[in-house]
Amino acid sequence: MSRAAEPAPPEPPAYDLIWVGRGIALVAAVLLVLYPILSDDLYYQNMIIFSLVFAIAASGLSIITGLAGYVSLGQGAFIGLGGYTVGVLATRHPDTNVWLWMPLAGVTAGLVALILGFVALRARGPSFVIITVAFLFLVQVIAINLPSLTGGTAGLSLPIPTWDPDIANWPFYYTLVGILALQLLLTWWIRRTKLGTGLVAIREDETKAATIGINLPVEKMIAFVASSVLVGVAGGVYGYYLTFIDPRGMFNILLSVETMLALLVGGKATLWGPVLGAFIVEPLNEIANNDLGGGNTKLLIFGGLLVLIVLFLPQGVLPAIESLLSWSRTRGKAGLVGARIGTAGSLASLTGRLSLVERDPAVERPPLLEVTDLRKAFGGLKAVDGASLVVPEGSITGLIGPNGSGKTTLFNLIDRTIHADGGEIRLAGERIDGLSSWARAHRGLGRTYQITRLFREMTVLENVVAAQRSFSWGQLGRIAVSGPEARAAEELLEYVGMRAFRDQKASALSYGQQKLVELAQVLMLDPRLILLDEPAGGINPVLIGRMSEMIRELNSYGKTFLIVEHNMPFVLGLCDPVHVLGRGRTMASGTPAEIQQDPAVVDAYLGDDFVLEAADVADEPQEATK
Ligand code: ADP
Ligand code: MG
Repeated sequence: MSRAAEPAPPEPPAYDLIWVGRGIALVAAVLLVLYPILSDDLYYQNMIIFSLVFAIAASGLSIITGLAGYVSLGQGAFIGLGGYTVGVLATRHPDTNVWLWMPLAGVTAGLVALILGFVALRARGPSFVIITVAFLFLVQVIAINLPSLTGGTAGLSLPIPTWDPDIANWPFYYTLVGILALQLLLTWWIRRTKLGTGLVAIREDETKAATIGINLPVEKMIAFVASSVLVGVAGGVYGYYLTFIDPRGMFNILLSVETMLALLVGGKATLWGPVLGAFIVEPLNEIANNDLGGGNTKLLIFGGLLVLIVLFLPQGVLPAIESLLSWSRTRGKAGLVGARIGTAGSLASLTGRLSLVERDPAVERPPLLEVTDLRKAFGGLKAVDGASLVVPEGSITGLIGPNGSGKTTLFNLIDRTIHADGGEIRLAGERIDGLSSWARAHRGLGRTYQITRLFREMTVLENVVAAQRSFSWGQLGRIAVSGPEARAAEELLEYVGMRAFRDQKASALSYGQQKLVELAQVLMLDPRLILLDEPAGGINPVLIGRMSEMIRELNSYGKTFLIVEHNMPFVLGLCDPVHVLGRGRTMASGTPAEIQQDPAVVDAYLGDDFVLEAADVADEPQEATK
């Protein structure tokens, strides 16, 4: 394998820790399954049954809240909806086996999540939290005010189970264990797919996620539905177990609060954290109810626990234990210090991954990007004020202009990081100004940021693999962390020389390294046009050389570039044509030689003494290509 030839990754993955964790999980699972057989203590069986319900709810919640970062306080509503679905159907059809209604409880929860998602997922942050709370109260009010269906405040009594009282709890207990296993499997699977990396990308930086082809509404909607369906089924089992349900109990906000608390205590971004959290929080809840008088004491315990977690264990118990263990293991070992960028790979190996077409220089170059009269004002400031430019297919086009002349804003308008006030954008002849960021990415637009915007909590490999070059349901379900997707990402990392860092968090990288990874990320889209915002800004000279080498190489295989850069030798040596932006408007366009002689440009931007100096450096590579 070629791994031996690479510079060693700074930290080996902690496989032994993973196995310790798996061992503990296995022992816990076996104990859980055997408990009702070994002990007939109904008090503890009851406690475990409640804990299982919260574990399912919290594990479901970890998809929309832990992965996608949308904090929902309406999760308890799906327990209630499941309970009421089973309750209503069971009382209306007394001759049908109650268990047969359980799948319908999941259908109800999923459908309601779908409808709620259309409204709620347009909002972010605190607005989303408030909408989910409002939703919870709304379903409660509906349940109270539809007595013909739900029994209103008087509640509903479900049929009493008919099986042997000695094992009365077993069917509930084992069904919930089964649902929890399914929920964990679902959560685990989603985390490994392109959908999962997309969701984490959304959590880290939603705007950026859209520009690398992630279809935001669809992915968030899938996450929301996936986080509620099995919770609905569990709610159905819970309702049947209780044998009596009423709106006050089933749509109590404390169910949501307890679910959220379980998620936060255990660790919201982990697979097992929500389960651990539920088995900590629910027993505490029972103790508070039975031994400490419930009511206010319970609120005090919940509130206190929440404050403690936020203050001391913001990542949750499980991640805290993990980092404690791995810290004691790796103490004294060097981290990233001294790590270097690996040797760059050759482009030849990428021709299978990227659609690289060797360009015939004799063929006329049609326009790939046409920007016409683009406008954007921030309040009274016209940042982009009628800019027009053309990027010919196959070119490396430059865009220069003084600080604040609107170059970055122009890029933001082209990839819809922000919305334009007016103007037209065409990519390969097609108008794209009405399209979303991800639709533009799918049509072949890629873009890097002046201040890099990698997903900081994701690894380097995950950052690259997160890019989605097209939308398909099949692609969302594809495994991202291994297999062909990961191999493609690894080859791109090899090309930019960052493969040795594949398992590092993006936040641990230097600025120059981040620029390289962001380039690999954009290449994963296999774009036709790549917008680079100051690719040479703030990085060391060796890296600048490597950067222009890569741009030239990718270009020779047919990739088109539009580059904003302040490093004049870099721009004038690499780009043709060059556009000059001044106060949001295109001041001049032409070859590097023409630009350097344009009196208006020299006056406004380059400065009198600049031309000579830059021309010396710029001449050299141009001569070489002639
Ligand atoms: P450049 O990249 O050419 O240096 P920018 O496009 O970043 O310039 O900025 C152009 C002008 O627009 C500047 O005056 C900047 O302060 C302003 N600007 C950019 N983004 C915003 C924003 N989000 N809100 C308000 N003003 C902004
Ligand atoms: Mg800028």
